[in-house]
Amino acid sequence: MPPESPLRAARGERPGNRRIHGQTVGVKVLVIEDEVALAEAVQRGLEAEGFEVEVSHDGLEGLGRARTGFFDLIVLDIMLPGMNGYRVCRTLRSEEVWTPILMLTAKDGEYDEAEALDTGADDFLSKPFSFVVLVARLRALARRRSDSNLQPLEVGDLVLDPVARAVRRGETPISLSPREFAVLDVLMRQAGEIVPKLDLLERVWGADFEGDPNVVEVYVGYLRRKVDRPFGRSDIETIRGEGYRLGAPLAAPR
Ligand code: CA
Repeated sequence: MPPESPLRAARGERPGNRRIHGQTVGVKVLVIEDEVALAEAVQRGLEAEGFEVEVSHDGLEGLGRARTGFFDLIVLDIMLPGMNGYRVCRTLRSEEVWTPILMLTAKDGEYDEAEALDTGADDFLSKPFSFVVLVARLRALARRRSDSNLQPLEVGDLVLDPVARAVRRGETPISLSPREFAVLDVLMRQAGEIVPKLDLLERVWGADFEGDPNVVEVYVGYLRRKVDRPFGRSDIETIRGEGYRLGAPLAAPR
């Protein structure tokens, strides 16, 4: 295992020297974190970046505020008084509140990132985290949120609705995890084009992903089992050594 993020190393980047501008002014963030000093530091830092920030120190109280749908982004700790972060996240999703959630996980804790994502979180960050990374992740989530192209994506009879976060093949609804959905979203937005594995990794897992890049193959496998195989299709193609392509190749490269 290389010490650096394989993605970052592959792109010759170092942490902290890449600033993504814009997309923060007026973005409303709810920080649900019971460590008061940490919550206040995050609040001050995010406000300095242009975000509007409210803080809650209790899971149940935070859930109540998150439910209002007032916020654009939620930063959610796991170990919280009142109600733990997993339950907060699961409850919001079960109530169809789709505000992007970045979950704060503890690397040495009994919980892991996979569980955070299973509950419907969009992203996670391990404590202790770098503030620069937190801001970059939140900007990425905000960009996704404010994406002007919210029209349903269609490739043949496969349809992905980014607003309802729903996928169907013909009339058959397909249930995807948030991560699977994100991978399919990228492939469908670039239908007919080869999407390099590293692009998928960066866009779905984030530029700071430290884990095994083969996670992309794993998730493409999950997707095939849900959107292709049950329907006798093979729309998601592996282009050996290059990446993945969904749908017929474009007639001419641009
Ligand atoms: Ca905590």
